Amino acid sequence: QATLDVATIRKDFPILQREVNGKPLVYLDNAATSQTPRQVIDVIVDYYQNYNANIHRGVHALSQEATDAYEAARKKIQEHFNIAKSHEVIFTSGTTHSINLVANGFSSFLKKGDEVLVSAMEHHSNIVPWQMLCERTGGTLKVIPMNQEGELIMEEYHKLLTERTKLVFCNHISNALGTINPIEEIIEAAHKVGAAVLIDGAQAAPHIRADLQALDVDFYTISAHKVCGPTGVGMLYGKEEWLKKLPPYQGGGEMIAEVTFEKTTYADLPHKFEAGTPNICGGIAFGAALDYMNGIGFDEIAHYEEELLHYATEKLLVIEGLRIYGTAAKKTSVISFNIEGIHPYDIGTILDKLGIAVRTGHHCAQPIMDFYQIPGTVRASFSFYNTKEEVDSLVEGVKRAKNMLV
Ligand code: PMP
Repeated sequence: QATLDVATIRKDFPILQREVNGKPLVYLDNAATSQTPRQVIDVIVDYYQNYNANIHRGVHALSQEATDAYEAARKKIQEHFNIAKSHEVIFTSGTTHSINLVANGFSSFLKKGDEVLVSAMEHHSNIVPWQMLCERTGGTLKVIPMNQEGELIMEEYHKLLTERTKLVFCNHISNALGTINPIEEIIEAAHKVGAAVLIDGAQAAPHIRADLQALDVDFYTISAHKVCGPTGVGMLYGKEEWLKKLPPYQGGGEMIAEVTFEKTTYADLPHKFEAGTPNICGGIAFGAALDYMNGIGFDEIAHYEEELLHYATEKLLVIEGLRIYGTAAKKTSVISFNIEGIHPYDIGTILDKLGIAVRTGHHCAQPIMDFYQIPGTVRASFSFYNTKEEVDSLVEGVKRAKNMLV
């Protein structure tokens, strides 16, 4: 039995009290973005009310306070992911920024004939930057295929790995299917051929507390807005040796040691990758969001969400003509589905009228939709603050939509 006191937890989220189209909001679009608890909103308000200042540069009290809070958040992120050194935590604007930073840096290393492997179930943010990198360098992009269940075919992955492989990119959890990928095996095998690995942890972070030292991963990315934090801030983890080797992504203030018109030398890590005024308040709130989630407990969250996933899967599958995409043995609380003969957008629109928020479309993962030969899916994604009653509302809503549309 789940140990979470969800009724009490829900009181932390002001938005969950609102109505949409005259109905209580049922928010099931957590894979797109999570909601923000009062504890994190308070931190944001406190920052702007009491110590808003630019960091790392002022001698005055406010600047010191803001700098201390921002650096304390970096430490929290470091501890949360068991990262060896705090300067291996780079603040970015989110996963997309983190991935582009690495892809840009690899332009200096990749040569014609080198190969980059990406999984078949990537978010566009984990495909396009590598295509751009290969276009710049003459590298070749290869795809690790997946099966009908939405699992990577690992025998094929092992066959693709050669001494030409320089980089492997894979998400920890697929946003479109919920599949938890075997990243331990992916990382270990890539390292055996000398390839670096970037794991996109955007969808994993709300469900799993990854131990990055144990994983021995080279890069790991997350977005704060998926873990009850604000938008516009995220993290790139990089092993120190890689971050030292990679060239800076953007030039500007804060990332330099010395500037003359003849030559500029760069600041030490992490500042080398943090040009300009960062999202200071966002960084601080990101730390607060991790505190909030740890206060609830990731084991408890995972256990409860699994219960919700099973409950919802069973109830939805009773509906005739409903097919779930992504039936991997290991998956998180994401259900992507369609009903035969009905466009996903139409189901989403009717659900919205009932106050139920789901995502419809290709979920920034068009290759997955091409694989299943569908235009998109309806995706319901559950968080620890969702309830079985909300799942019931979803199921009733889908039944109603079906009756109206067929
Ligand atoms: N990767 C995955 C797996 C995601 O789910 C997302 C967000 N939907 C991203 C990358 C991109 O994250 P962001 O838009 O926050 O940069």
